[in-house]
Amino acid sequence: MKITVVGYWGAYPEKGEATSCYLIEHKGMKVVIDCGSGAVSQLQQYTELKDIDAVVFTHYHADHTADLGVLQYSRIVDKGLERTSDHLIMYGHQEDPDGFATLSKEGAAQGLPYNDKESLHLGEMTFSFCRTDHPVPCFAVRVEAEGRSFVFTADTTYIDALESFSRDTDLLIAETSFYEGQEAKNFGHMNSTEAGRLAERSGAVKLVLTHLPHFGRHDDLVTEAKKEFGGPAELAASGNIYEL
Ligand SMILES: [Zn+2]
Ligand SMILES: [Zn+2]
Repeated sequence: MKITVVGYWGAYPEKGEATSCYLIEHKGMKVVIDCGSGAVSQLQQYTELKDIDAVVFTHYHADHTADLGVLQYSRIVDKGLERTSDHLIMYGHQEDPDGFATLSKEGAAQGLPYNDKESLHLGEMTFSFCRTDHPVPCFAVRVEAEGRSFVFTADTTYIDALESFSRDTDLLIAETSFYEGQEAKNFGHMNSTEAGRLAERSGAVKLVLTHLPHFGRHDDLVTEAKKEFGGPAELAASGNIYEL
C-alpha cells in the first residue's frame, strides 16, 4: 500500500495547501480518504482525477468535505470528454442523512454507506471503521492489505476504543489539534500527548501527527508525543509518502 498525505491541516488550509485528504494506492486501485478544502488542486500533483476510484469520508465537517462538490464536477467533465466512463464511488456514514445525500451526483458520483459493523472491500484492500467521539458522528478508518495496515483516527477525543482498533498497526495517522496540556477534549479533538499515548498503548509501529493547528510550533507536537510514544513519530506534510 502507498499512502500519500495530500492535506493535513485542521479547520482551513494554509496558503497553497489543503485540509484533510489522503490518497491510498494499492494494485492499481486509488482511494481517497476525505476531500477537504484545497484537496482537488493538491490531488493532481499525485494522480489524475479521472483515475480515482472511490472516496471515503470520515464525517461531514467542512475541513473533510469542502472539495466534494468540485471533485464531482471534475468527474462530470472527465466523463463528458470520455476520459473515463466510471462513476466516482463515495462512501460515507448515514447518520447524517443530509451529509450522506451530498455524496451522490447525477451522472458523476454514487454515494454508498459504510458502518462500523462490517468491513468494506475496495480492490484488495479492506476498510474497517470505529466510531469516534466528536461533536458530529465520525469514524476512524483502518485499512489492511497483504498483512500490513494503517489507521487514520479522523477527528476524535482520546477514547479507549481506538487503542484496540489501532492494535499493532504499522502506521497510526493521528489527529493532533492541540499541544500538551491543552484541553483538546473540550473541542472534540486530541492533543499531542494523547496522540503519543494512543500510539504507545495500541502498539503502533510508527506515528504521524496530522490535522495540525494554526498556532504554536509544530515541532513541539512531535517532542511532546514522543514523551508518551517510544517509536518513531513525525509531522504529516504535503506529499509525504508511506509505503507499507
Ligand atoms: Zn477536522
Ligand atoms: Zn470534525
